[in-house]
Amino acid sequence: MNTLPITQNVSLLPYNTFGMDVHAENFIAIKEAATLSQLMSDPQWQHMSKFILGGGSNILFTKDVPGLVIHINNRGIEQVAEDAQHIWLKIAAGENWHQFVLHCVTQEYAGIENLSLIPGTVGAAPMQNIGAYGVEIKDVFIELEAISLTDGSLRTFSHKECEFAYRHSIFKQQYKNQYAIMNVTLRLNKHPHFHIDYGAIQTTLELMGIDKPNIQAISDAVIKIRQEKLPDPKVIGNAGSFFKNPEIHPDKFNTIQNTHPDIPFYKTQNNLVKIPAAWLIEQCGFKGKRVGDIGVHDRQALVLVNHGSGEGAQIKALSEQIQKTVADKFGLMLEREVNIF
Ligand code: FAD
Ligand code: NAP
Repeated sequence: MNTLPITQNVSLLPYNTFGMDVHAENFIAIKEAATLSQLMSDPQWQHMSKFILGGGSNILFTKDVPGLVIHINNRGIEQVAEDAQHIWLKIAAGENWHQFVLHCVTQEYAGIENLSLIPGTVGAAPMQNIGAYGVEIKDVFIELEAISLTDGSLRTFSHKECEFAYRHSIFKQQYKNQYAIMNVTLRLNKHPHFHIDYGAIQTTLELMGIDKPNIQAISDAVIKIRQEKLPDPKVIGNAGSFFKNPEIHPDKFNTIQNTHPDIPFYKTQNNLVKIPAAWLIEQCGFKGKRVGDIGVHDRQALVLVNHGSGEGAQIKALSEQIQKTVADKFGLMLEREVNIF
């Protein structure tokens, strides 16, 4: 049996986009499923607390991580099936999501072009059912394979078993840190149906002079919008949207609308009303606010930022202050999207 490549007291600064310099008591990068299976059969490690880490773009560390941090870093894209309409790809969890999207765009496999430039790994994508511009990974998802961190067994999860919902799956709560997702199988389309009626895609395509968009053009438009609006984590620490958009009952919405007639909203498929959390936060005066080295982004109020030496606990405290202020003003409790440790 090979010695497991576990190191001690490892800084997680290069492994999280908020730029928090916390330490892992023990750290291992998993490049092959076999290494994780070996780990799970080793008495020294099998009962230790474990934290699974992908690209660290949806996590706020507020303290050092005791036990073992398992960084999923396996690679590979395999075509597993094909018919006249579709192509099935099995992607290793450690692959970079955006690089995989670009691979599909180049091959003209449609379905995930709206999900361009989302940071992180393929393996974490089902975790919160990543979504943007009216598309979610659940729309192309077939199944995933995951290793149990309880007994080391390999389990296949079907679409239904993942219990996907808005920025949610079974792995975000019930099975959090219990299964390491090792690969994901997606079904892409050779004959695309485009989604361009969401957010600023249509107007951006027009500005780019494109009247008949293809997969590449939509990906380019999404990248352009995101680069103009969102802070680049390499420049300003952040983890994207800190809160989910609240989806509320129409009666509750009508009550809020009576006192705030200009409130933006979208009707959802499950007969609820979605309100952009960014608008609620902006109405409470937080947009662009900076306290020391932490704050709220000046172009997108949903994004909390670390300008340099901010600490996780400070960002968490700011998020709670935002939650309380929004609750006092609108009677709505914002739910966090970012994972906190
Ligand atoms: P990590 O941050 O490493 O982990 C996130 C969670 O998943 C943790 O709880 C971790 O334990 C768990 N996890 C990670 N890998 C695995 C695995 N292999 N098996 C089991 N559990 C695992 N999200 C969107 O949905 N839509 C967006 O448009 C979007 N835009 C963003 C823009 C910016 C600038 C940033 C910084 C973030 C954005 N995000 C967005 C959030 C984030 O990119 C996604 O949630 C992404 O899928 C996280 O991937 P990751 O590998 O970085 O996960
Ligand atoms: P935007 O286009 O300014 O829109 C604001 C909000 O309104 C979005 O949150 C979006 O909800 C909703 N919305 C816009 N058009 C809609 C439509 N036609 N139907 C239903 N809802 C609509 O948003 P943005 O901040 O620039 O982000 C663009 C997209 O990227 C959004 O889908 C957003 O979720 C995604 N994004 C996600 C993250 C993250 O970390 N999770 C970070 C950045 C961007 P939804 O958010 O529910 O789509």
